[in-house]
Amino acid sequence: MGMVVPKVRKHLCADALLRSVQDVFCQLPDHRKGDAEIPLSDALMSAFALFSLKSPSLLAFDKERTEANLQRVYGIGRVPCDTAMREILDPVEPEHLRPAFKAGFRRLQRGKGLEEMVFVQGHYLFALDGTGYFASNEIHCDSCLEKHHRNGTVTYSHQMLGAALIHPDKREVIALMPEPIVKPDGSEKNDCERNAAKRFVSKFRRDHPHLKVIVTEDSLSSNAPHIETLHAYNMRYILGVKEGDHAFLFDQVAQAERAGRVTYYEREDHASGAHHRFRFVSDLPLNASNTDLRVNFIECWETTAKGKVQHFSWVTDLRVNKGTVYRLMQGARARWRIENETFNTLKNQGYHFEHNFGHGYQHLSVVFATLMMLAFLVDQVQQLCCPLFQAAWAKWGSKRLLWEKMRAYFYAYALESMRHLFETLSYDLNKSAPTLAIDSC
Ligand SMILES: [Zn+2]
Repeated sequence: MGMVVPKVRKHLCADALLRSVQDVFCQLPDHRKGDAEIPLSDALMSAFALFSLKSPSLLAFDKERTEANLQRVYGIGRVPCDTAMREILDPVEPEHLRPAFKAGFRRLQRGKGLEEMVFVQGHYLFALDGTGYFASNEIHCDSCLEKHHRNGTVTYSHQMLGAALIHPDKREVIALMPEPIVKPDGSEKNDCERNAAKRFVSKFRRDHPHLKVIVTEDSLSSNAPHIETLHAYNMRYILGVKEGDHAFLFDQVAQAERAGRVTYYEREDHASGAHHRFRFVSDLPLNASNTDLRVNFIECWETTAKGKVQHFSWVTDLRVNKGTVYRLMQGARARWRIENETFNTLKNQGYHFEHNFGHGYQHLSVVFATLMMLAFLVDQVQQLCCPLFQAAWAKWGSKRLLWEKMRAYFYAYALESMRHLFETLSYDLNKSAPTLAIDSC
């Protein structure tokens, strides 16, 4: 029997994605004067390769840099040594890396890879959340957040606001350009997540002016200024609320209940055996000082087959009725994917998000974190759309093992391309790999 030949989408195969990242890097302005020995694009692509290969440290990567595979697979002309890489990348403005995320996203759109991520009525769901990835009492740079303690010591840290397209039925998440939470140039004051969210939303709209989106966030974001920002940029929302933080709103729900305005709805989930009980009411004021800001309220009690009860509550500007409430609940709860499938994957599944690859004096720490997010985006596009990646993952069973084998093969065999590497990972080397059909989409 012949081997089943999977179809690889041309725009979404690993090599096409790597070339698109490289094209963006080649167009970036070099901050150095005169003819630099190593082009900026080579330094950026080398750091990208470090995260794409999940090297545990810059030192480990440096040992392998003479391998011709880095040149052939990642298209790097000259791979800088670890010190040179840090020096070249430290002054790079992280914002310059934004077009690389946009290019990856556009490829997904063109290759029809985004269609399966649509949540409801042509809208994509995306989650927004902050995370920390560095803290030290000694190592610091110009953009570190600072916390001054009473005993005179200082904790320096880096955080970022991460954003990703998510879907309740999909494990894959499509990372967007993160917004660093840093101490702005020349400022004494720390940045905060709320300001970062404001910047994120306006830049997101510039990148994707017409994309229909529903934002899902935790209860810290359920405040009038943030919701007004979302309205201003034509974004819909499903945001967590808590009785302790939103007492006025919950009072309004109780009043609506007494007036008979609240709707109840129950649903069994036959697959999992869970029971869901909903209570919802539309058009309530969010808080006493913003009574003209009206929201729709959803509350849900989930009882699992084993009898465990969980309680959730959200506000949204989407219409809530018996036909929509279950799906809205699924969308709201998919928010955990930014925490679990994104930050935890980066921290615990081989990407070494919290490892200090080099801190620098200006932007290096943020540049490395952003490039790692970019490598994660390319991996997730593969996981969503590339049968070759899926075959390699299935063969090795876990991501951890896949990354380990990927690195081992990368350093053991002369490879022509990423496709060659995935073919080698998917089918035994000694047997001939099937020729994959590439469609013309
Ligand atoms: Zn720093």
